[in-house]
Amino acid sequence: MSRAVVTGGAGFLGSHLCEALLDRDVEVLCLDNFLTGTPANVAHLLERPGFRLVRADVTDYVHVPEPVDYVLHFASPASPIDYAELPIQTMKVGSIGTLHTLGLAKEKGARYLIASTSETYGDPLVHPQPETYWGNVNPVGPRGVYDEAKRFAEALTSAYRRTHGVDTAIVRIFNTYGPRMRPRDGRAIPTFIRQALAGEPLTVAGDGSQTRSVCYVSDLVEGLISFLLSSETGPMNIGNPHETPVIDLARRIKELTGSASTIEFIPRPEDDPTVRQPDITLARRALGWEPQVALDEGLKRTIDWFAQHPDVVGAPR
Ligand code: NAD
Repeated sequence: MSRAVVTGGAGFLGSHLCEALLDRDVEVLCLDNFLTGTPANVAHLLERPGFRLVRADVTDYVHVPEPVDYVLHFASPASPIDYAELPIQTMKVGSIGTLHTLGLAKEKGARYLIASTSETYGDPLVHPQPETYWGNVNPVGPRGVYDEAKRFAEALTSAYRRTHGVDTAIVRIFNTYGPRMRPRDGRAIPTFIRQALAGEPLTVAGDGSQTRSVCYVSDLVEGLISFLLSSETGPMNIGNPHETPVIDLARRIKELTGSASTIEFIPRPEDDPTVRQPDITLARRALGWEPQVALDEGLKRTIDWFAQHPDVVGAPR
């Protein structure tokens, strides 16, 4: 059996990733400090053979005595609200956390997958965004802590590949949604679902014409696993190229929940990207990967999960 270390494994994406690895008979050591994640996200995995959850802050140190085949560095606050509240932690986990996890991969001879982001493209001047686009990032703006931490992480990962020959893979993840998102993390889909289920107004930023390309979590995880098991190095975009105006997301969610909520318009946050769409030519060609879950289907599954977890939906942040 092979073994993976997943940092941030108790978060939204990390928990789905841990599950997918176990399903493929990969043992999983999940390291998380529960800064934005929760043990509840992986509680259902604790009984499964080969799964271990250890509370650890990867910016302190990362020590794993046993052999490791894969290191997946997913720890990081990921929503704009989270990294605005946790700016230093965000920069530390993207820099020092990346350094420590790369060190682990080097020591163990493991393949290394780093969760980078479409945010490395900033407010893009090229549309859709291919991996060859270098981005339009404001380093001192409110999103700078996240964007620049991830850009640093990509540079450090590339340095470890070139200097130490570590087998690295950089994935640029685009907006992903699904069960186990936090209803108050500030991102459009969980916010609209929470508001629709509570009968509150759905708050759309600006006039809602800005677009998002949203990927259902099971599609994303399929892409991540095939990338991990390939010999590709990236950077590689993984996301759903189907682009939707934010106002349409609000309308679909209102309809699918059967909610009587109204739609209200609020000011747009500073540096909020106007358009975002992955060019997934590389993932299609290199991995044969393509998202499968249509927007309405993914939204229905997410709404069902939220409806079944009123404790999560009603909880303070
Ligand atoms: P999340 O907040 O749900 O998960 C992040 C996890 O990392 C949490 O469980 C948190 O407790 C943990 N963590 C944070 N700092 C840590 C530290 N110092 N040591 C150990 N654990 C720590 O976020 P997510 O949406 O699941 O995102 C996971 C990764 O994917 C992040 O690296 C994020 O940047 C990247 N990403 C996510 C998206 C998306 O749409 N969700 C898009 C692009 C990139």
